[in-house]
Parts: sequence; structure tokens; C-alpha cells
Amino acid sequence: MTIPVEPTQCIDAADMLRRQRVAFTSEGPPSLAQRKARLTRLRAVVLTYRDAVKEAISADFGHRSHHETDIMELVGVIQSIDYLTRNLRRFMKPQPRHVGIAYRSGRAWVEYQPKGVVGVMAPWNYPFSLTFIPLATALAAGNRVLLKPSELTPRTSVLIRQMLADTFSADEVAVVLGGPEAGAAFSSLPFDHLLFTGSTQVGRKVMKAASENLVPLTLELGGKSPVIVARGHVDERTMGSIVFGKLSNGGQTCVAPDYALVHEGDIEDFVTQFDAMVARSYPEGPTGSDYTSIVSDRHFQRLVDLVEDARRRGARVVEAGVRPETAGNRARTLAPTLIVGAIDESAIMQEEIFGPILPVRPYRDMEEVIEYVNARPRPLALYYFGNEDNDECRALLARTTSGNTGVNNTLMHVAQDDLPFGGIGPSGMGAYHGVEGFRAMSHAKGVFVQGRWNLPSLLRAPFGKVLDLALTVTLGRSRKPVAKP
Ligand code: NAD
Repeated sequence: MTIPVEPTQCIDAADMLRRQRVAFTSEGPPSLAQRKARLTRLRAVVLTYRDAVKEAISADFGHRSHHETDIMELVGVIQSIDYLTRNLRRFMKPQPRHVGIAYRSGRAWVEYQPKGVVGVMAPWNYPFSLTFIPLATALAAGNRVLLKPSELTPRTSVLIRQMLADTFSADEVAVVLGGPEAGAAFSSLPFDHLLFTGSTQVGRKVMKAASENLVPLTLELGGKSPVIVARGHVDERTMGSIVFGKLSNGGQTCVAPDYALVHEGDIEDFVTQFDAMVARSYPEGPTGSDYTSIVSDRHFQRLVDLVEDARRRGARVVEAGVRPETAGNRARTLAPTLIVGAIDESAIMQEEIFGPILPVRPYRDMEEVIEYVNARPRPLALYYFGNEDNDECRALLARTTSGNTGVNNTLMHVAQDDLPFGGIGPSGMGAYHGVEGFRAMSHAKGVFVQGRWNLPSLLRAPFGKVLDLALTVTLGRSRKPVAKP
């Protein structure tokens, strides 16, 4: 099933935006109680449609583990709504700020105002949580929201539209369906804020389109996130976590470990233990109920080509766990695969993999790891397995820059509601989750109220002794120059 892009689509979206903006300006910013009521409605509709969501996503993927949809999407959405509801009063409170001595007895504070209408553009890989968590955040911040889900998960997108139409009026929350053309039109609308989750390549286009209207932007993009295993730390905990992070959702996770950097003396142990852990985690093999398929034929073929390119260039390809030939057949199912010894020029070491394939690259010491990571675009996540209390770990964390970092785990930073989530440079711009999400979708308005008496109120031309006094108070007395260190 594909959703046709109707020629009226962008006109509709522009019209929906206009209606939402009129409603926003005429009704004013919602109170704490109104925002909480919207979050409560959102929470209820998620739970009502829980089974339908799992079925729609699975049908869109060919097969998506229902357990994964529960853990990686539904729980995350409910957790996020509850976190926002619990903390909203604190987030909304105006923050008193310091007033300089010359401006006393004035008062200064910051107010967090809703921006107005927020646009949310979502990808297909977590089609539910990547629309609903930004939606919950935008509603908590008091905004109206227009959503554009992905065309690659058409059943889920139609279901999302239905769920939200049942729950909100169109001037509170509305959904626009369609593919790249609808996406391009959507990103050129004059929103008050736009949150885009998707590829770095499309993110560039979205930023260009948003710049035409100077729309403030949060970009949640992708990239190659490394996992680094310290010497001697190939063990059950490490392998359990790497297998979970790499193979959940068939590897189609933006923060999945993309490739592993393993000490040269531990490579064979890593291959053996990865194989054993995959067999343990997926005893029915890649056609078992907990193993997810690749979303489309194009993505499936892209992954097959990446493996073939690496093989042609001399890498060793190891299919891990229960072998596919003994496990039946299912469309677009790719066995968990290790690539050992891929050269840096091979495509698999250049582009984001986004599938159940893990290249393993040897290193000699941590200095080499730091150089390797720093010579590449800044990743969305970086994972380290080893002793968190030693100099090696401290140096790695201090001298590399990634969106987030996980020590002795993969993916779990995303589940921490109070941590910001976002990339840096090619992996993204800005963040949501935590108070950072609320603030990204709010305008921090500084307010200064002049007191009855203070120095600036006495400042009027002609300037004379009053100005001299004011300058002495603000600048202080002259000092000797400070020498360079
Ligand atoms: P994508 O960039 O192809 O699509 C994302 C959205 O953009 C979709 O709604 C799509 O319809 C729309 N779109 C497509 N072409 C467009 C255009 N020319 N102009 C405007 N909009 C357009 O991404 P995808 O394939 O759906 O998702 C996979 C990518 O998303 C991966 O790179 C992954 O790392 C990234 N991702 C990032 C995060 C994060 O939180 N940082 C989360 C999930 C996925």
C-alpha cells in the first residue's frame, strides 16, 4: 500500500498551519492544566491503540517484533509523556535572573512562551515514537503541532492520523501524509519551529528550505556511531549489550553501534562470542518472531551490496547465530553479519549501515582509536565497554565529541528522560528529551522591569558627573594590563 501524494497536499498543509496559527493567537498560550489535559488525552489514545500500532508497524516492515515495538516505541512514548506531565510545572516556571548593581531595584526573569505552531517530520525506522515523543514535547511546551510521518510506513502513518483525529481538533494537532514531494513542501512552510528526524542528506535540504523563512530548527540526523571495546573486555555483558543494540529493529536504529573498534588481540574472541550471543538471543534464527525485517526492497538491496563490496575488497564475512538456510525463509530478512578486516575505503566503512551488519576493525591503543574517531564526522552516539574509572576511558570521553555517550551499554542514553538527545554537526543540531526538549520548543523571553530608582534612569543628556559615577560603577577603576600566560 502506498499513499498517493495528492496535488492539493501542500496547499492543505499551508491551510492547516494557518488555521492552527489563528487558533494559537486567538486563544493565547495554554495553561498548565490545559497542557496536562492534552498529554492525558495523548497517553490514553496510545494505550487504546497499542495492539493496532504493533500490527501496523509489523505489516509495514514485513515483520517487526511486537516485543520490540513495546520496548522501543510504546514504553518510550508513555515514559516520555509521564516525565513531561510530572515536570511541566517546574519547566514552565519563570526563572528569576541576576540584576547588575547599576540596574537595582529592577527585576529580570526569563519566561518560556510557546513558540506557536511546530512542524514535526519523522522517519520510518521508529515511526511511532519519533512522531509521538516530539508531539508530546511540543504540546507540553504549549504549541499546536503539524506532523508529517514517513511514506515508507504507510499503514502506521494512516493509523497515526486516525488516532490524532480522534483525540485532537485539527487546529490543535493535524497530520499531513505523503512522500518526498510532500516533505519538501512541508519543510518550506513558515513554522514557528521545525523538528526533523531523518537522514543527514535530507536534513541538509530541510535546513535549506527552513532558512528561506528563518524557521528555527532541530535536526535529529544519523551517521556512523562507533562502539569501542577496551582490551580484555570481550565478555558476556559487552556482547549482550552490543548484540541488543546492533540487532534490535534489524539494525535500523539511528543510535545503533555502526561499527566496532576491538583490540587486535581480541578480534577472534569477539567473533566467537558475538556468534554465540546471537544464537542465544535469537534461538529461532533470523526468521524468529523477535527478529525484525528490513523495511523495503531498496534498503535490503543496499545492505546486500554493502556486504558484497566489502567481500570483494578482501574482508571476511561471518554470518552469526542460527544460520538462515536452516531457519526457513522470510522476505527482506538479513542474517546478523560480522565483517572482519574491511578496508576504510569500502562503502561499509563510509556510509551509515542501518542494518544488522557489524564491521569489526582492530586497533592497537586508545590513542589510535581517538584519532580514528576524530578523523570522521562527529557521531550521534559513541559507546565504550571497559573500566569507566581509568585514564583510557576518561581520555576517550574528553577528547571525542558525539551527540551522546554510553559506557558499558548501548542505546540506554535514549531511554533516560532527563538527558538531552541530539547530535552534533553532521549527526544533528539541537536536542529534545529532558528540559532541553521543552526549551527547544519554547521561546525564552527575557523580561526586565525597571525599578523606580536606579542609575540608568538618571542618565539623560547633558551628561556630566552622573555619567562619570555610572561608568565607575559599571567598569570599575582602571587596572594594569594582564600579561599573556
Ligand atoms: P529520510 O531523511 O529519508 O526521511 C525522513 C523524512 O523526510 C520522511 O518523512 C520523508 O518523507 C521526508 N523527506 C524525504 N525526502 C525529502 C525532501 N527532499 N525534503 C523534505 N523531506 C523529505 O530518513 P529515513 O530513511 O526515513 O530515516 C533513516 C535516517 O534517519 C537514518 O539516517 C537515521 O540515522 C536517521 N534517524 C535519526 C534519528 C535521530 O533521532 N537522530 C532517529 C531515527 C532515524
